[in-house]
Amino acid sequence: MNMYRSWLEVSLSQIDANFRSIRRATGPGVTVMPVVKADAYRHGAVEVSRVLEEAGARWLAVSNVHEGIALRESGIQSRILVMADFLPASRPLFLDYNLTPSIHSLEGVLAYEHLAAAAGQSAPFHLKIDTGMGRLGTRASALEILDTLAQTRAAKLEGLMSHFASAPNYTSTQTDEQIATFTAVLQHLRTAGINPPLVHLSSTVPVAYGRKEAWGNLVRPGHAIYGYVSPAKGLNTASSLDVHPALAWKATILEVKDIPAGAAIGYGGIHTTNRPTRIAVLGVGYADGYPHRLSNKGRVLIQGRSVPVLGAVSMDLTTVDATGLNVEPGHPATLLGADGAESIDAQQIAKLAGTISYSVLCGISSRVVRLYV
Ligand SMILES: *Cc1c(COP(=O)(O)O)cnc(C)c1O
Repeated sequence: MNMYRSWLEVSLSQIDANFRSIRRATGPGVTVMPVVKADAYRHGAVEVSRVLEEAGARWLAVSNVHEGIALRESGIQSRILVMADFLPASRPLFLDYNLTPSIHSLEGVLAYEHLAAAAGQSAPFHLKIDTGMGRLGTRASALEILDTLAQTRAAKLEGLMSHFASAPNYTSTQTDEQIATFTAVLQHLRTAGINPPLVHLSSTVPVAYGRKEAWGNLVRPGHAIYGYVSPAKGLNTASSLDVHPALAWKATILEVKDIPAGAAIGYGGIHTTNRPTRIAVLGVGYADGYPHRLSNKGRVLIQGRSVPVLGAVSMDLTTVDATGLNVEPGHPATLLGADGAESIDAQQIAKLAGTISYSVLCGISSRVVRLYV
């Protein structure tokens, strides 16, 4: 019946609705730059970017220069910020493909200046400062930044950006400290007459919970574009975003059989049936990104019922309990998404697997066929 062992159903109209909801929440003074890195969290970067561009996105963000080139080669015209890739060998590609780098060191700024000047091009860039995340970003002082910017002509500071380490944790003071550090640098630059047109620090969480002092005039949501907002710790208000998951993940039942009580199931025999059991073997495993940690823990939906994973998730196969169900090979099971009144999302899977929803989504492998609905 089904042609694929495992597949994704992606709703582009839900992506469009999520983007519009974020734009409504941020209002007219703030540009929304959807993050489409990691193949749009596995929703398909090209298809998702086309929909967002059509809906009016003037900026998109990716992680590396090759993700940016793939979008350009499929005709995406929006501005593209490359957030985490400024390797010397890839720098000329920014100019060739009209991609905008996030530069995270002052040496990088000077290198880009030399490259742009030699090419006779005006080359905008965003400067990332490390305000406490302790990852990418320069920790140079405002004076050192000004000194470097004074040496640039062709390379143009278009944006000043940073990234939060503890945005969902409202019991931590780290976000406020990062905002203060950022604001101090920005004020220093402005006093010296340097006014970057774009100022941005926020991914999904500060947008969803209305932390406006963290927005600047551009925000970079990824997770919310795909319908997810992480819970916030120490905050009583709910997310203000009307966003919903855009992706469902299904697998086909390859075999159904009735086995007796006392039978071991799968690698290591880590589950033994305690009653006569009908098992359904699904055409999905950890090579498809279904977490191995869901062994004996995961749940899937079949015919509107939530049923448990039995035994170890293996590379290509997963066995579930189909006792009492009238199922046949070829019938579908839902790993992520809704079936009747039941549903399961990436946050629930993540909880069972001891990981985060981002990792569940990004972990879905390219072997899983993607269909647009
Ligand atoms: C991935 C990423 C984002 C998007 O984060 P979400 O939590 O998915 O909204 C924003 N900014 C940077 C620098 C990122 O790396």
